[in-house]
Amino acid sequence: TYARELPEFCVRWQAETASAPKPLRLNRELVRELGGDPQLLESTDGIAMLAGNLVPAGAEPVAQAYSGHQFGGFSPRLGDGRALLLGEVIDRQGRRCDITFKGSGRTPFSRNGDGKCALGPALREFLVGEAMYALGIPTTRALAVVATGEMVRRDRALPGAVLTRVAASHLRVGTFEYVAVHHGPAAVHKLADYAIARHDPQLASREDRYLALLDAVAGRQAELVARWLGVGFIHGVMNTDNMTISGETIDYGPCAFLESYHPRTVFSSIDSQGRYAYGRQASIAQWNLARLAETLLPLIDTDTDRAIAAATAVIEAFPERHAACWLTVMRAKLGIDDSGDAETDRTLADDFLTLLQRGRHDFTNSFRALYDFADGRPQALARVFAGDPDAAAWQQRWQARQPQRDAALLATMKRANPWLIARNHQVENALEAAVDRNDLAPFDALLAALRAPFDERDADRHYTEPAAPEITASYQTF
Ligand code: AMP
Ligand code: MG
Ligand code: MG
Repeated sequence: TYARELPEFCVRWQAETASAPKPLRLNRELVRELGGDPQLLESTDGIAMLAGNLVPAGAEPVAQAYSGHQFGGFSPRLGDGRALLLGEVIDRQGRRCDITFKGSGRTPFSRNGDGKCALGPALREFLVGEAMYALGIPTTRALAVVATGEMVRRDRALPGAVLTRVAASHLRVGTFEYVAVHHGPAAVHKLADYAIARHDPQLASREDRYLALLDAVAGRQAELVARWLGVGFIHGVMNTDNMTISGETIDYGPCAFLESYHPRTVFSSIDSQGRYAYGRQASIAQWNLARLAETLLPLIDTDTDRAIAAATAVIEAFPERHAACWLTVMRAKLGIDDSGDAETDRTLADDFLTLLQRGRHDFTNSFRALYDFADGRPQALARVFAGDPDAAAWQQRWQARQPQRDAALLATMKRANPWLIARNHQVENALEAAVDRNDLAPFDALLAALRAPFDERDADRHYTEPAAPEITASYQTF
């Protein structure tokens, strides 16, 4: 539909031929969800398709155009520099999904890039995307990784790969910026109508549908970022070209999960100012939404002052909306129902985070220790709190706030406090084995563990161990 309905905002294009494609991993479960047959994609033709060497019948691959504010500065022409939209499929639940390649070669948007993707980052996106999916967080997902048989030049020569990605769509804030800047308001109308039809069809007949679209995107982002914060996720590069209209997490380049808690945590070396630090993600989402709002102003009202007032109201409501989502996430993590005073519960959550920050405690394991305590295993929490003079008072407040938990509340608490997250050093170990030693066993083992993040198992207990502090301190994703 994108190629057919919005041809001005993309370029028909073909993938480069991979000289010696070798299938590495196929997401069989996802293939089935899409109504596909994993065996077919493991056949010679299937592998050729996933390498970009064979275009499926009826597909019209395109490179999509988009702009983006990168670290606050506007780049008018980004676009799919190493990606292609192969086409769309309707999944088993009737949802339309984009199928795209990443690393399939140069396009008219490649600028100085080589259009390629190294194997490590492709596997990383597979792993972390599946981890996020298992955690219940809206995300794009990897369908397959095929090694191309060619080397790509980074700081050293690395094996190249094509990643196949599935997404609710690849419409980004940056897509709207591109169309607004290069094509003007009538074209934004067309794009916005497409976005509404695809993601918010219930708004189509409303008179204020473009304001409502902004509001819907803001609502999804308010929730998405709250969900990220709940699992310690740091996206790492929240440029407007990496923020979706659908509300799915996209672009797992420099992302990471924090271990010891500090809101200023940053792992990406290109983010030297900490613009995209853990605790800044909500305000950055708001900033990005303001860029989306600017593109929609002429659609919102022909009277510019009225349009600005209406859009500003949506943007200014964002912090409160996000805070409400965050409170929901935090109440679940603390195992408290929603009957209490919001400010009191917010303070209870903040004070726990302060304890974690001061003690440099592991975010995931400390929250899990709360769940363990609630479920009758007090030892882990006692270890977290040992030696902190303020811990006992906090624990008393927490227990007084919710003296009893029924099975449903306990189940909610468990799902909010994963036992496993994708820890950076373990992800690195798995990728290193795959890339340097051709050994995918550690990748498979970690992936299997991350697909069941809520249940304790002795066999996977080593994945719960934080990295040594000196490793975490020097860790960089990018
Ligand atoms: P990202 O930082 O991954 O969100 O990408 C930002 C922009 O750079 C997008 O337009 C990408 O298509 C482009 N890009 C990233 N890596 C490459 C590459 N190796 N070759 C060409 N374009 C690239
Ligand atoms: Mg990107
Ligand atoms: Mg990227």
